[in-house]
Amino acid sequence: MGAEPGFPRFKSEGRYRSMTFSHLSVNLIRHIRRKFARVVVPKVGPLKIRYHRPLPDGKIKNLTIRRKASGWYVTICVEVPNPVKVPVETTIGVDVGLNAFVVDSDGQRIPNPRHYRKSEKTLGKHQRILSRHKKGSKRRAKQREIVARTHERIANQRKDFQFKTVHRMLLGCDEVAVENLTITNMLKNHYLAKSISDAGWGSFRLKLQSKAESAGKQLTTVKPHYTSQKCSGCEAIVPKLLSVRVHDCPHCGLVIDRDHNAAINIKKAAVALRGGVVVVDTPETLERERSAEPCKPRGGGNYNKPRPLGRGN
Ligand SMILES: [Zn+2]
Repeated sequence: MGAEPGFPRFKSEGRYRSMTFSHLSVNLIRHIRRKFARVVVPKVGPLKIRYHRPLPDGKIKNLTIRRKASGWYVTICVEVPNPVKVPVETTIGVDVGLNAFVVDSDGQRIPNPRHYRKSEKTLGKHQRILSRHKKGSKRRAKQREIVARTHERIANQRKDFQFKTVHRMLLGCDEVAVENLTITNMLKNHYLAKSISDAGWGSFRLKLQSKAESAGKQLTTVKPHYTSQKCSGCEAIVPKLLSVRVHDCPHCGLVIDRDHNAAINIKKAAVALRGGVVVVDTPETLERERSAEPCKPRGGGNYNKPRPLGRGN
């Protein structure tokens, strides 16, 4: 994404990570059971694989064997019928950020877990040990495995969190609206680059898109212009710095969390796109709601009971 392609270089044995078998792959999978199957890899022979969930019914399109730091994985791509489209009645607007990972137009916020930042110290320690080992030595190779597993663990944590967040968001509405952010440009800001990469907005968007599609729901992207500057009550532009966390409108007196304000604007833009009009709460009711139920960050981690995010229009 946006990276300059360099000159092609030699791909050595160690650079190969995966093998994909295409149209004939259906013949490679045998003895399909609920939890196990057998994959016959050419030149290697039969391998036992374990599913993390049962294989859905459908035509097997291809099969990829991938080596990761923690072991070997098989990805089976299956064609499933198109889901039934849900008519769009309720929309939630979602603002992604660094303080809170997402804030929706109902004011619910999911805190940013910052997986990389949490593991930065451990990772640094392992990398330091790696750099002290002699190149080409067995101990260095072993240490490299440890570093790779640390990276994989961070990536897995992020992936897990994103899937759960997407699931929760899609439970409560028919349409999710997000800003169309150009992340590559935002990464040019070196002060924020690491935190933005850690949040993983790009991969979150992709998951949101694919999960919305498989649920028959809709993902709408809106232009990110003025979403955080505009007042969601009276449409006036209220300029503010990134450090100002509260939207305080001098025109209509609306006082609301900055990200919540942006999420409402995103929702309004999405509803306008499909030709509807959002019934805007008057600033008084919004303020009353806010004082009755303050927009507080909820403790992370309790995902056992997914709660729907949206409450409709
Ligand atoms: Zn206003």
